[in-house]
Amino acid sequence: MKITATPFRLKLNYPFKISDFERIDTPIVFIKIEQDNYTAWGECSMPPYLGETIETSLEFINKIDSNVLANLNLNEQLEYIDSLSLNNNAIKAAFDIALHDLYTQKNNISLVKYFNVNEALMPETSFTIGIDTLEVIKEKLKDAEPFKRIKVKLGTDEDQDIIKLIRKHTDKEIVVDANRGWLNKEHALKMIDWLATKKCLLVEQPMPINAFEEMIWLKDKSSLPLFADESCKRFNDIENVKDCFHGINIKLMKSTGLAEAYRMINKAKALSLKVMIGCMSESSVGILAAASLAPLCDYADLDSVWMVSNNPFETPTLLEGKIKLPNLAGIGYQTNN
Ligand code: MG
Repeated sequence: MKITATPFRLKLNYPFKISDFERIDTPIVFIKIEQDNYTAWGECSMPPYLGETIETSLEFINKIDSNVLANLNLNEQLEYIDSLSLNNNAIKAAFDIALHDLYTQKNNISLVKYFNVNEALMPETSFTIGIDTLEVIKEKLKDAEPFKRIKVKLGTDEDQDIIKLIRKHTDKEIVVDANRGWLNKEHALKMIDWLATKKCLLVEQPMPINAFEEMIWLKDKSSLPLFADESCKRFNDIENVKDCFHGINIKLMKSTGLAEAYRMINKAKALSLKVMIGCMSESSVGILAAASLAPLCDYADLDSVWMVSNNPFETPTLLEGKIKLPNLAGIGYQTNN
C-alpha cells in the first residue's frame, strides 16, 4: 500500500464571508492510496477557523504505518486511523473517504450500493450565498440559477436587508445559516419569527457553540426548525444538542468521514432529529462521497464544487437541483484532464 499526500489550495470564485471570518481559498490535502492496481482518493478541506492546517495533516500522516493499514479490514483501518490522535477530524475524514473508495473499487460496487442507499430519495442541494455587499449578493444570485434552494449566510447588521434584497429577485426556498452570529436569544427569536414570514425553511446555528441553555429556550419558542452545525461535530455530540435543536448538519470533515456520518444519521433519526448533510470547500471527491449518503438525509448542502475555479476533478452533474450519483465503482469521481 502506497500513500501519497498532496497539499492544494482550492480557489473560491468569490471571497467567502461568514459572520466572523473571510477567505479567498481553502487549504486541502488530497490523499492517494494505491494498492493491488487500484488507485483511491480522499481529501480533507480545512477552513482555518476549524484549527487544522496542511502542517497538522502532514504530521498526522507521519503517524500512519502503511504496512499496518494494509493488513487490516475496512472497519479496523478506520478504527486504527481514529486511534492515532484525539482530534484531526478532517485528515481522518480524508483517509476514511480514500479507504471507502479503495474498498468499494476492489469489490466493484458504488459507494451508494455499499451504503444500500435509495438514490431516488436524493434531496435537492442548496447553493450558498455568503455575506457580501448587497450589490455582490445580487450578482451571486445568478450563480444560484440551476439550484432550487438557496442557503443564505446571516449574522450581520444587515440581515433583514439581505433577505429583502433576495426576495426582490427570487422566491426560491431559503435555508438560513447564522454561523453563531446572533449573540442574544431575544434577537435570535425576533429574527427567526421574521424569517418565517419570508419563505425560509430553517435556521442553522443561530447562536454560539456552547449556548445550550439559550438554545433550549429558543427551540421551545422558535417558529422555524433549528439545526446544529458548529455545535455538533461527531457522534457523541448528538447527546449534547438533542434538546437544543430540531436537527443537525453532518459534514464529513467534522465527523471524521463516512462511517461515523452514517452512524450519526441513524442516531439522529432514532432521536427524531432532522438531518442535513453539508460540506466545507471540497472538490468532487468529498462532495460525491457525501452525496452518496444524502438520500438518507432530509436536506443536502453540497455546493462547494460550484463555488471554486480549480477543482482537479470533473464537476458532478446537477439534475433538477439534485446531484446525480455516478454509476461507477467506488466514489465515482473523474479526473479533469
Ligand atoms: Mg453552517
